[in-house]
Amino acid sequence: MFNHDIDNIEKIVKNLENTEISRRKFLKAMIAAGVLASLPTDDAKAFSSNAKGKIVIVGGGAAGIGMAARLLKWLNNPDITLIDPSDRQYYQPGFTLIASGVYQPDEVWKPQEECMPEGVNWVKDSVVAVDPESKRVSTASGQDITYDFLVLAPGIQINWDKVEGISYDRLGEGNAHCIYDFVGAQKTWEAIQEFARTGGRGIYTDTHTKLKCGGAPKKICMLTDAHARKTDNREHLQLDYFTASNQLYDVPYFTPRLEEIYRERNIPVTINTRVKGIDTAAKQVHFERIEKSDAGTTVTPFVEDYDFLHFVPPMSAPDFVKEAGLGFTEGSLAADGWVMVDKETLIHKKYPNIVSLGDVAGVPTSKTSAATRVQVPIAAKNLIAIMEGKEPQEKYNGYAACPIVTDYGHVLLCEFDYDKKPMISFPFSMLDMSKEQWAAWLLKVYALKPLYFYGMLKGRA
Ligand SMILES: Cc1cc2nc3c(=O)[nH]c(=O)nc-3n(C[C@H](O)[C@H](O)[C@H](O)COP(=O)(O)OP(=O)(O)OC[C@H]3O[C@@H](n4cnc5c(N)ncnc54)[C@H](O)[C@@H]3O)c2cc1C
Repeated sequence: MFNHDIDNIEKIVKNLENTEISRRKFLKAMIAAGVLASLPTDDAKAFSSNAKGKIVIVGGGAAGIGMAARLLKWLNNPDITLIDPSDRQYYQPGFTLIASGVYQPDEVWKPQEECMPEGVNWVKDSVVAVDPESKRVSTASGQDITYDFLVLAPGIQINWDKVEGISYDRLGEGNAHCIYDFVGAQKTWEAIQEFARTGGRGIYTDTHTKLKCGGAPKKICMLTDAHARKTDNREHLQLDYFTASNQLYDVPYFTPRLEEIYRERNIPVTINTRVKGIDTAAKQVHFERIEKSDAGTTVTPFVEDYDFLHFVPPMSAPDFVKEAGLGFTEGSLAADGWVMVDKETLIHKKYPNIVSLGDVAGVPTSKTSAATRVQVPIAAKNLIAIMEGKEPQEKYNGYAACPIVTDYGHVLLCEFDYDKKPMISFPFSMLDMSKEQWAAWLLKVYALKPLYFYGMLKGRA
C-alpha cells in the first residue's frame, strides 16, 4: 500500500468520525477505500510499446472503456477512436441490487463523459455495419470510419421481441418484469414489495440462449424469498423457478449448495423449460418443455398462472456482428452470432487485426464483468503484439465470477475457469466458498462497484 493511499484512508475515516454516520456507511467507505488502495497507482506502467496504427473500439462498456484505458497506458501516443452512443455508463451488476432494494437507482451509473479516458476520440454514435475486408465501420448517422485494428466490444443484444405477448415498452404490464434493464430493475423492486405484501404465486424464469450473468434470475428469486421472510409474509407466497437448462447451475463445486438453498426455501425448480410467450392480461406464462432423446426432440407446450413474473428474453450478439460475418458459423456459439475469437488469445480467427472481448465474444464461459476484467489486459497485450507484428502470447483461462446473492447478507461467490473448476481468489480461499459467505456479500455490495468505476474503467484492475 502506498503512503498517499494510507493518507486518503485516514482522511476518509476522520471525515466519517466527524459526522453522524451509520455503521453500514462506515463499513462501505472502509471497504471501498481498501479496494482502491490495493490497486496499483496510475503511474505504475508495467509495460509500454511504440506500436502504431489506428485503433477503433466499438462499444464503451466494461470491455471497451477498460481496453481504451489499458491501451492508453501501454501504448506511447496511441490513436484510439471509441464509438458508443450512450450518455451513461451503467454498473449493470447493480441492477439486481436495485431490484432488491439494496441500491438506489442513482448509485449504479455515471455520465459516460466522466468515464471516457482522456486521449480517446469518442464518437457518440452507434455502429450499424462492419466491413472487415476494407477495415471500415459505418455508423447510424452515416459516418464511415476506417481502422487498422478493431476492438469489438458492443456487449449483448437483448431480443425483447423474441418473447411473444410482451415488448420492451410494455415491461411491467401484467406484473411481468425483467431486471436486465435499468428501468426494469426499478419496476421489479416496486413489484416485489407489493407481491410480498399481497402474496400469490411468483414465477421466475431464465432463457435458453447464453445470457449475461446467468446467476441474476436465480438471485432475484432468492431475494424475493428473503424479502418476504423479512416482512413476515413468506407463508403467503408460492415461488417457482423454471430453467431452460437441464440443471439449476452447471459449476459442480457450487451447484449442490445452491440446489440445497432452493430446497430449504421451498422453491421447486423445473428444468428444460423455455418461455414462449406471456399473456399479460390473463397473467399466464406459455412454456415449452424441451426433451431430447435418441429418438429426437419433443416439445410439449404448457401454461402456468402467475401473480408476479420475472422473465429473461433470449440474447445474442448484436445483429451487425452476424451480418458482418464476424460470428461463429458452426458449433454451439454459431446460432446467436458470438464473435469468432480464439478462446485463449481473444484474437479473431479469420481477421487477426480484430480482437473481441466482453459479452459479445464467443468464449465458452459466463458473460460477466468479472470475466471481462480479466480479459481486458490479455486482449490489450495481444493486440499490441499483433500491432508489433509479433505472435500474441497472453492466454485467457476462462475465469469468470458470479456472486450469487442468496439472501440479504449472504453471497455464494462462484469463481471458475473454462473447465468449470473453482478458481477462488485470495482472501476467499481461506473460507469454504462452496457455501454462501458474509464476506462475499461485503465484496458484492461495497467493493465491486468502486472496483468497476475506479479500477477497471481506469485501466488499473
Ligand atoms: C441484471 C444484470 C446482472 C449482472 N450481474 C453481474 C454480476 O453479478 N457480476 C458480473 O461480473 N457481471 C454481471 N453482469 C454482467 C456484466 O454487466 C456484463 O458482463 C458486462 O457489462 C459486459 O461488458 P461489455 O463491455 O461486454 O458490455 P456492456 O458493459 O453492456 O457494454 C456494451 C457497450 O456497447 C455499447 N454498444 C451497444 N451497441 C453498440 C453499437 N451498435 N455501436 C456502438 N456501441 C454499442 C453500449 O452502449 C455499451 O456502452 C450483470 C448484468 C446484468 C444486466
